[in-house]
Amino acid sequence: MRFFGRPVRLWRWLILFAIVYGIAQCLVQWGAGPAARYAMLAATATMLFFAMVIAVIYGVRTFAKDLRGEMIFFAFLIGGICVLNALKFLKIVDGGLDALHMDNRFQMSFYIYMSTLATIVPPSIVWLVLRRLTDNLRNMAARDPLTDLLNRRGIQEAVERYFDARNAAPAYLMLVDVDHFKGINDTHGHQAGDEVICHIATLLRATVRRGDLTARIGGEEFVVICLETDAEGGMLLAERLRANVESQAARIAGSGHLVSCTVTIGISPHFYGAQGMGDALRQADAALYRGKAAGRNRIEWANIADNNSAGCSSAGNTTVATAKGHPA
Ligand code: GH3
Ligand code: MG
Ligand code: MG
Repeated sequence: MRFFGRPVRLWRWLILFAIVYGIAQCLVQWGAGPAARYAMLAATATMLFFAMVIAVIYGVRTFAKDLRGEMIFFAFLIGGICVLNALKFLKIVDGGLDALHMDNRFQMSFYIYMSTLATIVPPSIVWLVLRRLTDNLRNMAARDPLTDLLNRRGIQEAVERYFDARNAAPAYLMLVDVDHFKGINDTHGHQAGDEVICHIATLLRATVRRGDLTARIGGEEFVVICLETDAEGGMLLAERLRANVESQAARIAGSGHLVSCTVTIGISPHFYGAQGMGDALRQADAALYRGKAAGRNRIEWANIADNNSAGCSSAGNTTVATAKGHPA
C-alpha cells in the first residue's frame, strides 16, 4: 500500500489495533460500566489524534515540505479534535455520563466542531492528493529523467518565472558540452556514458550558486543560467565548473573504472527576459563551437560575431575570450 508514493507498512498494525481495541471496549463495558468505556474512547481518540498531529508535523519537515501551509492548517484542525477529546475525557472522569448529554454546551460544541471537520477534511484531502499529483506531473514534464536536472522546457519556464519578478537582474547563460563524449561511449559503453552524464550533473549542482538554474538540454549538453551576478561572477563559476570536471573523474558502478573527462563552456552576453534566452542560447552555442575548435577544455565568451549570427540587435555585454577563457 502506498501513500504519496511512499510504502505504508502500517495497515496490519492498524487492523490489529482495531481488533484489540474492540475487545478492550467490550471488557471495560462489562467490568466497569459505560462511563469507563466512554472515557476510554475519549482517551484513545486523544492519543490517536495527537499521533496524527505528530505525523503531520513530520510530513511538513519531510515528504510534504511543499505543502507546508496546508499541512500546518491540518495540524491545527486535528489538534483541535485532540484537545476536545482530552477535555471530554476529563469531564467524563469528573462528572460521569452526565458530561455526554447532548444539551450540554460542551457536547454541542464538540459535535459542531466534529461535523464541520467531517465536511471540510475529506474534500481537502482529495484536493491535497490532486494537487500533489498535478505537481508531480508538472515536475515530470519539466525534468530530465536521467539526471533530474531541468529539461529544456523546465528551464524556459524557470527563466520566465525569474523574469516575471520585478527588478530581476540580467542573467548569463552557459552552454556546457562534454568533450569527446562519443569516445567515452565507444570505450566504456553507453551505460558508463550515462553515468558520466549523471556525474557531470552532480558536479553542476554542487558548483552553481543557490538559485542558479541547471538543465540538461541534450545528450551531453547542459545549460547553466547564472542569476543575480555579473560577468566576473559568471566567469568564476564557469572556471570552477571546468576545473571541477577536469579534476574529478566519474567512478563507474560495477566495473569501478574511473573515467576522466573535460567540458567546453560557451557563455552568452547577459540577457533580459525570457524572450532573450533563445538568442542567448544561440550566442553561447556559437561561442562553444569556437571553444571546441580552439582545443576544448576551455571557456569561451560570445563575441560580436556570435551576436550577429544570433540575429540579436542589442550590443549586450559581449566579451572576447582569452587563452583560458577569461574575458578580455
Ligand atoms: P565534442 O568534443 O565535439 O563535443 O565531441 P562529442 O563526441 O562529445 O560530440 P558528439 O555530439 O559528436 O557526441 C555526442 C554523443 O553523445 C553522441 C551520442 O551517441 C551520445 N549521446 C547522446 N545522448 C546520450 C545519452 O543519453 N547517453 C549516452 N550514454 N550517450 C548519449
Ligand atoms: Mg560533446
Ligand atoms: Mg554535444
